[in-house]
Amino acid sequence: MYTMDKHNQYDNTARKRQIAILGSTGSIGTQALQVIEEHSDKYEVYALTANNNVDLLIAQARKFLPDVVVVANEMHYAKLRDALADLPIKVYAGADALADVATAEPIDMVLASMVGYAGLRPTMNAIRAGKAIALANKETLVVAGELVTQLAIENRVPLLPVDSEHSAIFQCLAGEMSNPIEKLLLTASGGPFRTWSMEQLQHATREQALKHPNWDMGAKITIDSASMMNKGFEVIEAKWLFDVAPSQIEVVVHPQSVVHSMVQFADGSVKAQLGTPDMRLPIQYAFSYPQRLPLSTERLDFSTLSSLTFEQPDPVRFRNLALSFEALERGGNMPCILNAANEVCVAAFLKERVGFLQMSDVIERTMQKVDFISTPTYEDYVATDAIARRVAEEFITH
Ligand code: MG
Repeated sequence: MYTMDKHNQYDNTARKRQIAILGSTGSIGTQALQVIEEHSDKYEVYALTANNNVDLLIAQARKFLPDVVVVANEMHYAKLRDALADLPIKVYAGADALADVATAEPIDMVLASMVGYAGLRPTMNAIRAGKAIALANKETLVVAGELVTQLAIENRVPLLPVDSEHSAIFQCLAGEMSNPIEKLLLTASGGPFRTWSMEQLQHATREQALKHPNWDMGAKITIDSASMMNKGFEVIEAKWLFDVAPSQIEVVVHPQSVVHSMVQFADGSVKAQLGTPDMRLPIQYAFSYPQRLPLSTERLDFSTLSSLTFEQPDPVRFRNLALSFEALERGGNMPCILNAANEVCVAAFLKERVGFLQMSDVIERTMQKVDFISTPTYEDYVATDAIARRVAEEFITH
């Protein structure tokens, strides 16, 4: 497929690659900085952005000396500017600065690692500016996958997956040239509630949902993992990244999180990518592709891996998975509605304003209520997002 081969044009050995990290203070952003630090002979930070965590942003800027930093929340501008006044770093604040920072001429690659719908506009601008995209913000493809992948093709820009499952698939496809994919097998840990009954799920609390068994991640994605909306989003993400039909994507629950995903080919052969759960590997692979660089991750020890198990997901207890497939099948602005309603639900759940199972009710009702648009423009997505948020909020309040 297009996005893989084109990336070879980027020479990893010449000057240091200039990287912009959108969302540098989050879980992915901080681990990306560890990767850059481990390979400071190859990579350099050109820009860092954060939403609100200005203290960490200041510390990162003082350590990595980027050319530009942006804080989205303008209330933090003066503090950021004053703290970096002795350094030759350009400091900006606000949504417009955030949307444009990744378009600067020297940038080679943009790591899109901010959370949620907010990632869409800066990522689209970076694609238009011809930057390679390391994509950790799955919501960008959930909301507007058709628009974003089309834009990437038009601008001859590779979209390199950072999500561990999609990186696994990407790694399985290396060397397969144009061999068609028969099926993608997306693995899911099942999250902290994998074995819980409906009765237990009814009373699942914020604290219980925030305890993921295998992965240490930000709050939004951890709740999405507990509700399996994360896996639903990854199904949609996989459809756009690898150009397969929804019927070619199967979710397999694999509680040990050792197999990160698999690809089945036309001859029945299945390739899997395995490893310890450490996001630095997929981040680094997106940076260094097609090369592999050394990385100090913990290695798999097969003498202690007593069993790897696989089971079917339960669509009754985890309705978000079925809702995601439905949104993908219907297409148009439906995945955008799904995402907006989910963002509102997760924010409300974190504030204990909505119950765990109630989230799926609100999402389903929002999908039924908001007007369907079969071929949305960017403006339609923006309008759909706003309307769906309002509708979902009303369902939560009433
Ligand atoms: Mg993932």
